[in-house]
Amino acid sequence: MHKRVEEAVADVWSRLDAGPDRAVGLTSDLVRIPSVNPKFQVEPEEGLERQVQELIAGELSGCGLDIRTFDALPGRPNLLAETEASGSPERGLILCGHIDVVPVGDRREWSYDPFCGDIREGKVLGRGTMDMKAGMACCVEALRVIREAGIRLQGKVALHSVVDEEAGGFGAKAMVRAGHLAPAAIIAEPGGDEIFISQGGLEWLRVTIRGRQGHSAYRFTGMYPQPYQENRKAPPISAADMATRFLSALRDYEAANARVKSHPMMPPGINHFGVGAVRIGAGLGADGLPMIMTNPGIVPDVAVIDIDHKFMPHETSADIRADFERFVAHFCATDPWLRENPIEVKWDLYDLHFPPMNTSADHPLVRIVTDRRASLGKPTALRGSIGVTDGAHYAVAGVHPIRYGPFGANQHAADEWADVESIKTTTKVLAAAILDWCGVA
Ligand SMILES: [Zn+2]
Repeated sequence: MHKRVEEAVADVWSRLDAGPDRAVGLTSDLVRIPSVNPKFQVEPEEGLERQVQELIAGELSGCGLDIRTFDALPGRPNLLAETEASGSPERGLILCGHIDVVPVGDRREWSYDPFCGDIREGKVLGRGTMDMKAGMACCVEALRVIREAGIRLQGKVALHSVVDEEAGGFGAKAMVRAGHLAPAAIIAEPGGDEIFISQGGLEWLRVTIRGRQGHSAYRFTGMYPQPYQENRKAPPISAADMATRFLSALRDYEAANARVKSHPMMPPGINHFGVGAVRIGAGLGADGLPMIMTNPGIVPDVAVIDIDHKFMPHETSADIRADFERFVAHFCATDPWLRENPIEVKWDLYDLHFPPMNTSADHPLVRIVTDRRASLGKPTALRGSIGVTDGAHYAVAGVHPIRYGPFGANQHAADEWADVESIKTTTKVLAAAILDWCGVA
């Protein structure tokens, strides 16, 4: 390793050891500003994303960084804080975290105030500690300590503090769309002793099945051959019946996919087709949903099935979409009605789409983080992420992201907390990783 880099790492680590635990304190301060994603329909006083970004900007204000905010969604600012563009573009690095959090849920389930930010028994307490204000605080502190040490890097570091990860990642998408890219990124979502190098892609899609509406009294005419001419006229075709058959076939397709597709970092069967909502009724409304869902006296002609599909990190959206559409086409081909009235598939439901992330285990950034953790006496395991993160939106733009951050517990649940020791370790590792990756001038 370069001598200058080793000296710089020793310098920032001694500064981190000597000073107050600013990353821990900042985690606490960030948690005390509730920033619940407004898409979850919260009270305005709990949706203070802008104030969180202002706090972060204030923390970094003395560091000579170029700090900008811009709205990713109306009234919901992203923050970008960058070092000067020096050295080689190949040595650019993004540190990314989201500042939105999920709602508190039932407050009676909590044993402390969800926005207290208290530090007790080695834990920082509150909604958004683990997911992921602790990780954001580590990024801010790692960058700050390098600037305070007066170290000049040979590559640009950009902190991306984004909104809306919890509801689709539109903050990270806006960053990427604005062209704020680098060869590699660290997504400081919870990691602890694990680096997540891959994650599956996620698609939301809607399947719409059409039947023929009719009086429920004539349902039998669509089911059994009819001897009398009167009963043979255009029998109703139940969308409920076809949806039942389709869901059964989908379950088989899901199982077949689980058996034939695998990825070394992912548990088998993670490539699911989760049916999240089924709505059946009469008449197709302009909103794409059945118009009448309260009258069983009508044989329904519309079934709308919303699906959450996870796919493997090495697969492409185009391939999995084509494969699913083939399955639907074959399903329709086996039914005389559906041959004439094929099932419709609509992708990007609610604009939700997370591309897969598949960073190599041999990527230099993986080795850097692993080695720096080893030098602190910490072992590291490489994993695939079961959930999706903003890493997806960077990966699709050609960035190589890894997910590494402090650990904790109860993310998206009551009594969330982040581990104080892990925050300190992560800050050190991130600071060293910046120096290793970018190099020191
Ligand atoms: Zn998160």
